[in-house]
This record gives sequence, C-alpha cells and structure tokens, in this order.
Amino acid sequence: MPSNGNGVQGRVVLEAPPQPGFTLLPQLPEPATPPPTQDSLAIDLVERSDLFDRYTYCASQVLHRGTTAYQSVIIADTVNYGRALFLDDAIQSAEDDEEVYHELLVHPAMLAHPDPRDVLIIGGGEGAALREVLRYQSVRSATMVDLDGEVVELCRTHLPSWHCGAFEDPRTHLVIRDGREFVEEGDHRYDVVIVDVVDMFDNGPAQALYTRQFYQQLRRRLQPGALVAIQGMEFSFLDHYPHAALSRTLRTAFSEVHSYRMDIPSFLSSWGFMLASDWCAPAQWSAAAIDQQIGRRLVPDDLQHLTGEFLMSRFSLCKATRALLVQSGPLLEDGVRFVSANGAAA
Ligand code: SAM
Repeated sequence: MPSNGNGVQGRVVLEAPPQPGFTLLPQLPEPATPPPTQDSLAIDLVERSDLFDRYTYCASQVLHRGTTAYQSVIIADTVNYGRALFLDDAIQSAEDDEEVYHELLVHPAMLAHPDPRDVLIIGGGEGAALREVLRYQSVRSATMVDLDGEVVELCRTHLPSWHCGAFEDPRTHLVIRDGREFVEEGDHRYDVVIVDVVDMFDNGPAQALYTRQFYQQLRRRLQPGALVAIQGMEFSFLDHYPHAALSRTLRTAFSEVHSYRMDIPSFLSSWGFMLASDWCAPAQWSAAAIDQQIGRRLVPDDLQHLTGEFLMSRFSLCKATRALLVQSGPLLEDGVRFVSANGAAA
C-alpha cells in the first residue's frame, strides 16, 4: 500500500464525496458528464499516509465493509483500478493490476526451481498466488495457510477473477491458521514457499512472519534446494526502510537474498519482492533461458506480463537503491518494535 515516501504506512478511511459545485477554476464550463445519481455516487477511500499527503481511491460501490476477528476488510469497485481489496485500511490488490503483482511474486521462484512439487503459500487470501502456483504440472500439492477464514471466504465470493477456481483444485490444501504457528508446529518440507502476507504494521497480524526467528524456523520446513519468495513491501530509493530491514533479516538465514521491484499502479508506488535461497543468483540467469523454461513448463497464455527480458530487468536497481540495500541497520526480531531511521514504526 502507498506510504509517504518515508516508510510510513497509510490508513484508509471512508470519506463523503466532495461537495458538488466545488471547483478550483470557476470560469471552466460545467463538465459534460451528468452529476452522480444516488446509484452511482462516488465514494472516496482515502489513505492518510502522513500529516501532509493523502491518497484517494474513488469507488463506485462498496461490496463489503466489516471487521473480522483479525482485521478490517473493504472490498470496493474502484473507478481507476477495478475491484480492490483493502485490509486494515491498506490496499492488498486490485483487479486491473493484480496479475503483474502475482506473476512477479510467484514465477521467479517457481521457474528457478527445477521441479517444484510441494509448495507452501503463507497468506495470499485472494487465491491469486495459488492460481499462479497451480499453473505448474509438476505441483502435486499447494498448501495455502491464511490466518483469516472470513477474508478467504469474502475473496472467494467477491474476487472470482483472482482465484479462478483455484480453491477447488484437488491439489489445493487450504489451512486456516496463523502462518507462524503452522511453520513452527509441522514437519512437512516444501520446494517453494511464497510469503504473501499483509505488511509489517504495529500490532498487525503478520508481524511474526517478518522476523529473524521466523526465517530460522522456516528453514526447517524447506527441502534441499528450496526457494522462498516474499512480498517485500514498498521499495524505492525514497522508501526503503522496511524492505532493507527485511533484506538484512533474510540474509541472516539465507546466503542468497535478491530484491526486485515493479511499479504497481494501484499501490501508487514501486513494490519490492525478494527471492531467498542458499543457491540461486538471478544475475546468472539469462533472458533466453527463462523464456525456454516458460515455454517448457507453462502454456502460452498463462503469463500476461512476465518474459525473460522483463524479469531480468526487474532485478536492475539504481545506484542509490543498491547502496541503501547494503547499509547496516536493525534486524527484524521477535518482540522488538521496528523503528526505521526516519522514526517510522512498523
Ligand atoms: N498482496 C498483499 C500485499 O501487498 O500486502 C498481500 C495480500 S494477502 C490478501 C494478505 C493475507 O495475509 C490476508 O489474507 C491475511 O489474512 C493474511 N495474513 C495476515 N497475517 C497472517 C498470518 N499471521 N498468518 C497467515 N496469514 C496471514
């Protein structure tokens, strides 16, 4: 979700639409579009990122607004990005660009692994990470562990183009449970793990899935040669504190940790992803080899965005960003509130 460029995460509140008639340039002629009727009233979903900046999503209707045992939920049809899911007042994904987000989250790890059979998804309530994992014939089990059964049910009902029936696939095992508990208390090992949980928030439900202690536990659940892909929150040279701290933390558990990024229009920002393992160095990939793997392992229309050339370009970070990633700083630890260098708490 957007932040203010300083790593401060936003909050969404429902606001009344602006008063009709307000205009900055009173000389301008009236717009040709008719005024909104009761049925098409625009609803503003405002992310208040800091004292100064506000980000407003304009929605034509709110399909669901409520609070589960773990988080607040809004599902709304936004005008610019299609249907969107907001949890604890932060956008999670939107219909018009969720494909590029989920392709980038899932396929680098799946394509890098020579034969991914057992896959674990932690979080991913919309079912779209699951949809992408199930594209691989090699997958014999895809276990998705999400904390919040109510969110998963709401996504099943309101976000059919995200999951595309993935929950009904016989290879899917849906577990409604805290991801940290699941990892700590089980023994089964996985070839690929995708971590697609909500961002780090003060007292948020996923805090314990970002810490050094968690990644050490996760190692115990990995097959030799396994890869872990993680949604790495907002990430640019202006907004790097949580991503860089997560990268440092992952490097305590894995010898190869690589950041890549993409502008996600509905997130109004540049988004980070991470690939962690003990062996996989994307710099050694070639675009042609990735395209070959895609051709061998997926059917032609499976991917809308990802090609070898495009994926390689995602790992290309500017000089300032690279420098920030190797700076020293605090690790993410169990029970320790992360406060970044700019004072923002997560
Ligand atoms: N793409 C998203 C983003 O950019 O933040 C993440 C999407 S997905 C909807 C986030 C999921 O994480 C939600 O379904 C939520 O219920 C789940 N989640 C939060 N805390 C969790 C936990 N401790 N264990 C498992 N799932 C968790």
